[in-house]
Amino acid sequence: MPRAKRIVVKVGSSSISGPNAGQIPHLVDALAEAHGRGAEVILVSSGAIATGIPYLKLDSRPTDLATQQAAAAVGQNVLIYRYQESLDRYEIVAGQVLLTAGDLENPTHRSNAQRAMERLLGLRILPIVNENDTVATQEIRFGDNDRLAALVSILVKADLLVLLSDVDALYSRPPHEPGAVRIDHVGIHDDLDGVTFGDIGSAGVGTGGAGTKVAAAKLAAAHGTAVLLTATGRVSDALAGVEIGTWFDAAAIAPTTGTLPVVSA
Ligand code: GLU
Repeated sequence: MPRAKRIVVKVGSSSISGPNAGQIPHLVDALAEAHGRGAEVILVSSGAIATGIPYLKLDSRPTDLATQQAAAAVGQNVLIYRYQESLDRYEIVAGQVLLTAGDLENPTHRSNAQRAMERLLGLRILPIVNENDTVATQEIRFGDNDRLAALVSILVKADLLVLLSDVDALYSRPPHEPGAVRIDHVGIHDDLDGVTFGDIGSAGVGTGGAGTKVAAAKLAAAHGTAVLLTATGRVSDALAGVEIGTWFDAAAIAPTTGTLPVVSA
């Protein structure tokens, strides 16, 4: 882990919004530490809708798509401001990158995004990626910024993807259920057939669950990015190389010759 040069870290809404907005500085401390030792760090952060809700004077998450998108447009701005304010402590500059899964499957959009990402990383900027919610609703509907994080990892050929959530590791069944066993390691050919997935996180403001995480982890791993799945509160330990969470081995990928792999669901 401390040897990983290019790292994508994905954090979900419930970890960094509402009562947990105070976790942003801890997350940023860990990202800054990795950045400071020379790693190239990309953050994929959800949380725009959850951050935007109080500004729309709504008490709870809107149920219609248009108001969710409006909340995302308002909250994205505030979310980036919060990250930048925290990154200022380390004199690190953030770059906002809003993408859709479709962008990464369209060759022209994909190469544009890849060029911009490489330039940002070359300039030592910390890109912060979210779904572009005014034109795409994959995450809103399916809780799938995990998949976007995997696609970004493949795009930039990351060494490592860290998928953070409110659970410390993958379990054989939802961890509150009796008989749940922690899974430390997933080999490239492990099919995880015996694993039962629950759905959303405990705070109820995000939309992803263990199922989307495992699908994303397997996608990234199959394309050569190792994946660590752990809890947001353990991000410093994770980036320092402490053996925690669930590790997915990366497939060995033949070096490419300038052409990008085609990514499909
Ligand atoms: N991309 C959206 C966000 O950042 C969607 C997350 C969600 O559905 O809660 O808020």
